Amino acid sequence: MSPLAERMRPVTLDDYIGQEHLVGQGAILRKSIETGVLPSLIFWGPPGVGKTTLAGIIAKQLRRPFYVLSAISSGVKDVRDVIDRAQKYAGELKEVPGNPILFIDEIHRFSKSQQDALLPYVEEGVLTLVGATTRSGLLTAPLLSRFAIKSRLEYYPASTLKKIVLRAAAILQVPISEDAAGEIARRSRGTPRIANGLLRRVRDFAQVLNDGNIDIGITQHALKALNVDEHGLDDMDNRILSTIIEKFKGGPVGITTIATAVGEEAGTLEEVYEPFLIQEGFIKRTPRGREATDKAYIHLGKNPFQGNEKPTLFD
Ligand code: ADP
Repeated sequence: MSPLAERMRPVTLDDYIGQEHLVGQGAILRKSIETGVLPSLIFWGPPGVGKTTLAGIIAKQLRRPFYVLSAISSGVKDVRDVIDRAQKYAGELKEVPGNPILFIDEIHRFSKSQQDALLPYVEEGVLTLVGATTRSGLLTAPLLSRFAIKSRLEYYPASTLKKIVLRAAAILQVPISEDAAGEIARRSRGTPRIANGLLRRVRDFAQVLNDGNIDIGITQHALKALNVDEHGLDDMDNRILSTIIEKFKGGPVGITTIATAVGEEAGTLEEVYEPFLIQEGFIKRTPRGREATDKAYIHLGKNPFQGNEKPTLFD
């Protein structure tokens, strides 16, 4: 992570905005931090929603040594490298006083036997394992059962992301208007990492064209120049929608069929892409499969009533 991105990362629970069901007053993780009793736990949620950040905050608040491993970090050629390192770490961490926390990102990438290999370390209670995954469906039942707290991190509503953008802008010391922050939030796919990234890019435009001030005008100009989708959808989101509409007449169509058509795993569609598209009202889950909504047709410039032609209303 670049030093700038690192500066934007919250370091205390009070800086961590949203995910109230986990860290709000009386919520399970806050209680765990307040009482100092932290079982091994798993964070499940899409990329960039704050899993690593939250694990780091917990370690800091509990003053516990914190070690991070990622199955996708640079320099790791093979997932076996990670498991080797995890085992080496876990072995070494036994010697570290203070009940260290070992955070393993993308833990689902470990094979079944690799996941099993972690179990003894968790059971011996010498370290607390915090796993993070975008794909809980790929975790083995024995490993899953060892995590006493299973927490789902959700996509952020635009109103919450806006607060994150305003906080990050204050750290970067860039002046930003409320409506500009709201616009960046709305187009960030419910994801703080994307919001912070867009903020930095809009700031670059503002420095060259607007004396550094981020107002709504420069924000819209920059986001257009950067080709950022009106609703923050990414390429895969748009491919999913156009596949349902163009290849399957708007649905209903099964998730496996869509997955084959877009060349992605069904589980990834289900756990990473679909929740956002459903939350934002672009697709509906029905007993017979997924259906594109009118909003999806309109977003792609198509008429919800007449197949693939452009709607007269929106011409
Ligand atoms: P993940 O581990 O889920 O992929 P990260 O924890 O790396 O996501 O978060 C990505 C970035 O988004 C962080 O560097 C941080 O700046 C920002 N971020 C994430 N969650 C929050 C939050 N709740 N409040 C403020 N900023 C956040």
